Amino acid sequence: MGLVVQKYGGSSVADAEGIKRVAKRIVEAKKNGHQVVAVVSAMGDTTDELIDLAEQVSPIPAGRELDMLLTSGERISMALLAMAIKNLGHEAQSFTGSQAGVITDSVHNKARIIDVTPGRIRTSVDEGNIAIVAGFQGVSQDSKDITTLGRGGSDTTAVALAAALDADVCEIYTDVDGVFTADPRVVKKAQKIDWISFEDMLELAASGSKVLLHRCVEYARRYNIPIHVRSSFSGLRGTWVSNERPEQGDQQVEHAIISGVAHDVSEAKVTVVGVPDKPGEAASIFRAVASAEINIDMIVQNVSAASTGLTDISFTLPKAEGKKALSALEKIKPTVGYDSLRYDDQVAKISLVGAGMKTNPGVTAQFFEALSDAGVNIELISTSEIRISVVTRADDVNEAVRAVHSSFGLDSDSDEAVVYGGTGR
Ligand code: ADP
Ligand code: ASP
Ligand code: MG
Repeated sequence: MGLVVQKYGGSSVADAEGIKRVAKRIVEAKKNGHQVVAVVSAMGDTTDELIDLAEQVSPIPAGRELDMLLTSGERISMALLAMAIKNLGHEAQSFTGSQAGVITDSVHNKARIIDVTPGRIRTSVDEGNIAIVAGFQGVSQDSKDITTLGRGGSDTTAVALAAALDADVCEIYTDVDGVFTADPRVVKKAQKIDWISFEDMLELAASGSKVLLHRCVEYARRYNIPIHVRSSFSGLRGTWVSNERPEQGDQQVEHAIISGVAHDVSEAKVTVVGVPDKPGEAASIFRAVASAEINIDMIVQNVSAASTGLTDISFTLPKAEGKKALSALEKIKPTVGYDSLRYDDQVAKISLVGAGMKTNPGVTAQFFEALSDAGVNIELISTSEIRISVVTRADDVNEAVRAVHSSFGLDSDSDEAVVYGGTGR
């Protein structure tokens, strides 16, 4: 008898009907002879609504209190799901992240898991219960305060528990049939990917394909936990994310040259205008941002105009960190001596991901041509071995994604991708 960890996202448990549907699916797995640990997210858009509420009482809510507030969302769904399972005649117990042994560092709102001690979960399933765990949360090892793992963090909870419990598989149930070659909400002709490597999935996730959170994929790669991403609505076979390419008949499935196109509208662009062009200035700027615990993404420094000796430095960061970054930069204005700050949250990032890029020199040119044919202007560029990303105007994002998807021959000629639920928020 194996142990499975299943994770159900917010759209899968959006209302009472959804919770009852998920309860049935969990009970099926139990009836098939598995021990089941189910990780749940907050219902529907609860987390967004709670953040809106917090911002109405305080523009920059205190991190500790925000975590206390947000973790209540997952507690609602875990308790309701346990009740629904009991109503089907099976034993279930719900646990908060802290009770489940999810131990984190003390960085509020984006804590990292440092250990998982799932003794209570193991006992619960050994006694015949279905264990329900609130996703996205843990407890700080040092302060003992409640923490959250960052938006989408229930994915990480599921993989971390799967690793700690030595589960056979970690199933991530969501509102689409798996990982597609682009977001099915934007590209109707996106194709479901049967198998994708951790490496490519990590880049897609880091580039904004929120179907899996990048920290969850990082964790799964480190502990070699295969993930099966699938729909909680259809029950179809989804996408396998793993190290080993699965066999198909007596052949291994092919490794695509391009895995997919990702987009991200959750970032903003900060420009520090008129920075003196001398050693140490960029270091001071990025030290100030790092000290505020802000992760930045792309950076560009314009060529200094020789006559002025000044340069502009632009970088992108999560919109949610925008206010904090500006206030950290304001503080160093007298020492760095820059002219002004510009903040632009009407930007989008579009990325093309695929291991085949390493050996196909034409990919970058084709990517830029597709954007130019669609009339999309590029503001920033960054690349890795297996990814090219550009920043464009937010208004252009959907058209740009579709143009790139078509250009690389990723459009399917059969079924349209189905989106079963969720609001896309
Ligand atoms: P959940 O509530 O289940 O965690 P999320 O909203 O976090 O669900 O993730 C699922 C959503 O991810 C899909 O509805 C889809 O719009 C979006 N998405 C973005 N990129 C992709 C992709 N490449 N493949 C599948 N879904 C994607
Ligand atoms: N409820 C949290 C969020 O919306 C965590 C999650 O769903 O994974 O970000
Ligand atoms: Mg998610």
